[in-house]
Amino acid sequence: MAEKTKKKEVKKVEKTSAKSTATKSETKKNTMLSDLSSVNKLRLLYELQIIDSSVDNLKIIRGELPLEVQDLEDEIVGFDTRIKNLVQEIKETENTVSHRKGSVETAKSLIKKYEEQQKNVRNNREFDSLSKELEFQGLEIELNEKIIKELGIKVKEKKREIDTTKALLADKKIALEEKKHELSEITSETANDEKELDSRAEEIRNLIEPRLLTAYNKIRHNARNGLAVVTVKRDACGGCFNKIPPQRQLDIKLSKKVIVCEYCGRILVDADFADE
Ligand SMILES: [Zn+2]
Repeated sequence: MAEKTKKKEVKKVEKTSAKSTATKSETKKNTMLSDLSSVNKLRLLYELQIIDSSVDNLKIIRGELPLEVQDLEDEIVGFDTRIKNLVQEIKETENTVSHRKGSVETAKSLIKKYEEQQKNVRNNREFDSLSKELEFQGLEIELNEKIIKELGIKVKEKKREIDTTKALLADKKIALEEKKHELSEITSETANDEKELDSRAEEIRNLIEPRLLTAYNKIRHNARNGLAVVTVKRDACGGCFNKIPPQRQLDIKLSKKVIVCEYCGRILVDADFADE
């Protein structure tokens, strides 16, 4: 259904364009593209397309680099944060270790004290009670030393992670400098090209009637690859690659009227335009 409507519209465009006597209001009513009927205008439109595509390409080349630079900067911030966190964690772990070492020392001095006391007990009950305390402090030392050992391993692991992260960070910083350099080179290289292309595009836009320009912009905006004007390639539309009947191809070759692809709506021009 939608396709039929499109075909009808295309026919309208052709009819209107062919009818040079059509009044302005009639033309307006029929189609936005009808005013374009001369070879020159089609050529201008095609040239505008080529320029716009070149500018698109420049933007694509440059467009990815700022993102890559941003990604690297984000990664560097991430690595920096990781290192800071690890340093903080090591500090906390070392605090715990020294606290545990203090507990060991306390237990050791308590053991000394209880052993002295045991020498002077008045009865078995006091002796047994001190024995229990001694046993408890002995276990306390054992437990703390086990924890100190485990924490020591953790600190070593964290220090290794810091080294690995620092190496990665250094690599990322080098990559960032390279990308930044690349970006500034491309920007300065393409800046002039883009300026020239922009001024030529502006000249052409001034030569094309506003309604046609609006149509061109609209088609270009809706097309995924930014192509509004395409040539016929191997009997097919250069935009959507659908086959074009021989009669239509002849009409396109004559360049007497605007012919749009009945499938994708792009403006079709003679393949020879591409060689000029
Ligand atoms: Zn097409």
